Amino acid sequence: MIGPIFGSDARMRVSTGKATQSDGRMFTVVVEGFGVGLQRRAERRITVPFPQLQRLMQTIAQQGGRILAVNAEEVPAGSAPAPSDAAVSDAPAATPTPAKKAPVSHADVPVNLYKPKDPFIGTVLDNYSLLAEGAIGRVNHITFDLSEGNLHYVEGQSIGIIPDGEDANGKPHKLRLYSIASTRHGDNCEGGTVSLCVRQLQYEKDGTTINGVCSTFLCDIEPGAKVKITGPVGKEMLLPPDEDANIIMLATGTGIAPMRAYLRRMFEPAERAKNPEYQFRGKAWLIMGVPKTPNLLYEDDFQRYLAEYPENFRYTKAISREQQNPSGGRMYIQDRVTEHADEIFSLIEDPKTHVYMCGLRGMEPGIDEAMTAAAAAKGLEWSELRPQLKKADRWHVETY
Ligand code: NAP
Repeated sequence: MIGPIFGSDARMRVSTGKATQSDGRMFTVVVEGFGVGLQRRAERRITVPFPQLQRLMQTIAQQGGRILAVNAEEVPAGSAPAPSDAAVSDAPAATPTPAKKAPVSHADVPVNLYKPKDPFIGTVLDNYSLLAEGAIGRVNHITFDLSEGNLHYVEGQSIGIIPDGEDANGKPHKLRLYSIASTRHGDNCEGGTVSLCVRQLQYEKDGTTINGVCSTFLCDIEPGAKVKITGPVGKEMLLPPDEDANIIMLATGTGIAPMRAYLRRMFEPAERAKNPEYQFRGKAWLIMGVPKTPNLLYEDDFQRYLAEYPENFRYTKAISREQQNPSGGRMYIQDRVTEHADEIFSLIEDPKTHVYMCGLRGMEPGIDEAMTAAAAAKGLEWSELRPQLKKADRWHVETY
């Protein structure tokens, strides 16, 4: 039962167009878990002429590899026919060749373009509160200009910020990582910017309120200020390229950042116009936890997406200090997951479904508990299924 549910082609996307045996085009197969030694850990691209495509895919399947995508390459008019010796033998000897038109894959994702020793200097374009009156704390949306450099990123990544000033030992502050809240095109959809969703960290120590160094630096920063930025980093939270995937998003507080980027990519009209290859038509379900209604983040945008895409977007809130769970305690997102556990589990049984979790680590045990019960109701073991989902790149967690 487990095999077909968590099948190896979970994220596979095949775009071959019309192919015939006389087809002269080359096909690039993006695969992971295939090859020998270190190759098995990396994502690889193998390009073969059409007559060898089927054999390659059989070989990959026999050796337990996972095909992520198959793309046809256009053959320029008048080009020579594909060489017939590019065949792949049963030993995985094919040479990985960069695909011309690969979907976003782990190998293509930019990382560490700017390091702490030589950070990018970004200029603050905008910094405004995301909270409504009566909210608890301070959460800001901050946008930086990246146009002067080569800092680019994809949805689900993070950047590092090095706050100005020195620590108690007179050393420069260390960087702090923040999840990116914008799409690769930025909030203006023109590229060259990055946005963050930052909550000012505040806690009490010995009767004094301590403000987080970097989060306070960011929440206070004025447009025009220069900021040291590193990265981007992270491949855990990447969105699959499938336009008809189902995306379940579980976020607490500022953990909404990557989800806001996904939802913009899926539903924001200007973003859709930018991404002809990604016209989302699956189901996106956001379960969002905040303490009070005025703490809801990006609410107007999400309401707009609900109105425009009622078939594709679902939005469930857990407002901890206004709503109660069935035991009379604060309503947390794990309580919402419990409430909808069977439905969520059924969705997870669909190989097109991905789950993303971002925010407080404390939500994880409750979510596991809910999934354990839902799996058990079908005679399945969640403790066995979850690692399979993770391996299939369908269970994405970034919690602190
Ligand atoms: P917050 O506003 O303080 O809290 C969000 C909601 O989570 C509140 O309703 C809160 O309820 C609730 N909550 C508290 N404990 C919980 C638990 N054990 N399980 C489930 N829900 C719980 O959130 P925030 O300050 O923005 O913080 C979000 C956290 O996410 C921070 O720790 C931040 O560092 C982290 N974060 C991580 C990433 C990442 O990993 N990439 C990105 C962004 C943020 P009550 O306060 O009413 O109890």
